[in-house]
Amino acid sequence: MISVENAQSIIQEHILKTEEEMVTLSNAGGRILATDIFANFPMLSFDNSAMDGFAVRSIDTIGAKESSPVTLKVAGISSAGNPTDLTLNQGECAQCMTGAEIPKGADAIVIVENSGGFTDLGSVQIFKEAKHGDHIRKLGEEIPTGTKLISKGTQIAPGEVGTLATFGYGELSVAKKPMIAIFGTGDELINPGETLKQGQIYNSNLPVLAELGIRAGGEVVMQEVIKDDKDSLNLFLSKAMCECDIVISSGGISMGKYDYVRNVFRDLGVMEEFWKVAQKPGKPLFFGTTPSTLIFGLPGNPVSSYICFVEYIIPIIQEILGLKKPRKLTAVLTEDFPSDKKKQRFLFGKAWINTDGKLVCAPTSKTGSHMLTSSLDADCIIEAQPSEKNVKAGETITIQPLNWRSIK
Ligand code: AMP
Ligand code: MG
Repeated sequence: MISVENAQSIIQEHILKTEEEMVTLSNAGGRILATDIFANFPMLSFDNSAMDGFAVRSIDTIGAKESSPVTLKVAGISSAGNPTDLTLNQGECAQCMTGAEIPKGADAIVIVENSGGFTDLGSVQIFKEAKHGDHIRKLGEEIPTGTKLISKGTQIAPGEVGTLATFGYGELSVAKKPMIAIFGTGDELINPGETLKQGQIYNSNLPVLAELGIRAGGEVVMQEVIKDDKDSLNLFLSKAMCECDIVISSGGISMGKYDYVRNVFRDLGVMEEFWKVAQKPGKPLFFGTTPSTLIFGLPGNPVSSYICFVEYIIPIIQEILGLKKPRKLTAVLTEDFPSDKKKQRFLFGKAWINTDGKLVCAPTSKTGSHMLTSSLDADCIIEAQPSEKNVKAGETITIQPLNWRSIK
């Protein structure tokens, strides 16, 4: 039996390389950028109008007031997408809409509200003196060419999608999602929706593990409940090991008569890196490798498999994707936490900011590794090092936030 820390560092040694793939911008949301993104041109890429109005030579508007307007000849129109070739001469202006290129010779925009008497082409009265640069958005004012816009490893959210679109990226390179196979084993398992017979239970682990795998950024491509039968396990596993980067089993890895998973892994040439970790729940955790696949044998008890996935597999998926590992936090316990003498103890819990602004937490009262409802409403996993004594209320403890919930 090895320590949690040891188990995590052994897994770390076998991390898979990030692979890249091209996706179109419309499919890029939520993916992780595999390269830095640079501005290939300046933003703005040309001087344009910030308002609807008239592009003028500011010098021509000197002294303009509502009571004594300046009259200018409207010599052309520049609208967004339809620039004009016109160069303004003295006494001339051009109608110029928001986003339209500023005609040559103009150095300010007079907004429609400060003008009058304009019908179509012809002339317009200017009611207010314009200053050089008024309402003109300048070339390069937001971002100069060559600026790094978004760093590799960033998860693409609405702001990133918009920036990529603004700079014309129709497709981009993202980290390829690791392909995951998940299987559960147990003669007692049937799938939700079917009718329970005596002695049967619903398979709840695979839906949980698949949900976790997807949320972590993986792609679950194979998922199956298999009987406690060596041949069936062998068949599924040989295919999964060929096609997937990560193979995850639940159940059948402990000391029971029909716990065949470890033997089947071995028969298929999986190199056992460790089996059994000093933790509660999740002691029978198995980790093995082939040259191209990481293989995790999670214990069948629902809380054990859920917690092992969060503690061991989510960090690995995130690292393969080029993301930072999930961050652990320290919180103050509001009630005692039941430690174990020899094993690291994990329990689902709730964390919140109390009225003093401190991060506090409390473990679930359902401590059995078969009690999956202890995960309902949980927003963290609380963890304590092996110890003779329980961690007391008021002491600090480590928590792993469940990042799909926000701590309030
Ligand atoms: P095992 O690790 O196969 O000894 O299973 C430990 C416990 O977890 C047993 O009570 C199993 O019935 C239960 N179990 C195993 N697999 C699942 C599953 N996919 N969904 C729900 N419970 C399971
Ligand atoms: Mg079993």
